[in-house]
Amino acid sequence: MWGRLPNPLDLLFPPLCILCTSPLEGEKIVCGRCLGNLSPTGLGQWREQVRVGEGLDEVWSAYWFDDQMKALIHALKYEGLRGAGRRLGEAMSQLLGTDCTPEKYGLLIPIPLHWNQRRRRGYNQAEVLAIRLGQLWRITVGRRCIVRRRSTQSQTGLSVQERRVNVAGCFRVTGKGNGLNVLLVDDVLTTGATASACGLALKEGGYGRVSVITVATPPKDG
Ligand SMILES: [Zn+2]
Repeated sequence: MWGRLPNPLDLLFPPLCILCTSPLEGEKIVCGRCLGNLSPTGLGQWREQVRVGEGLDEVWSAYWFDDQMKALIHALKYEGLRGAGRRLGEAMSQLLGTDCTPEKYGLLIPIPLHWNQRRRRGYNQAEVLAIRLGQLWRITVGRRCIVRRRSTQSQTGLSVQERRVNVAGCFRVTGKGNGLNVLLVDDVLTTGATASACGLALKEGGYGRVSVITVATPPKDG
């Protein structure tokens, strides 16, 4: 970016890739080699295989949620490294930006966190991804189209049915959808229960087609 002076500390302590610890050369957070070594799912549009897909027209997931990906998403969610999200946004854009035809969407919508969780984390990781994708694809990001009206228990460790119940009805659309086609953005999609609850709320709120794109999904039955 222009106008940014080099950080003198970078000369003393050159920034290192958070995955392989090799010195970064003008890159942020993670080196190009490590990004290139992530495992693409190759699933294409995989809505038909998602366990909870009601309310969703298309599902896209760029990479498998393997150890490398876990480390990157952990950095984004729990270590305050928003730059990891920007890098992941770039990687997913490069991988899926042609196949998912982003130009057919009028809006990118990050799956919202409850305000309390957002306050604790300081930001919504899905929003970091959506903003980067929005810049690359020239699509507006709708940050307040949908809100999470109650704090939900983490989906980790819950069965498919429990996940469905946990998030059912927890999203509320704030305005009118006017038939707009939207692309939801999130970090990881597991059963699809959260994205599905969002999709159902958006459709009920008058939106048109609702698809979701995520950085990662766990390998099947893994
Ligand atoms: Zn690296």
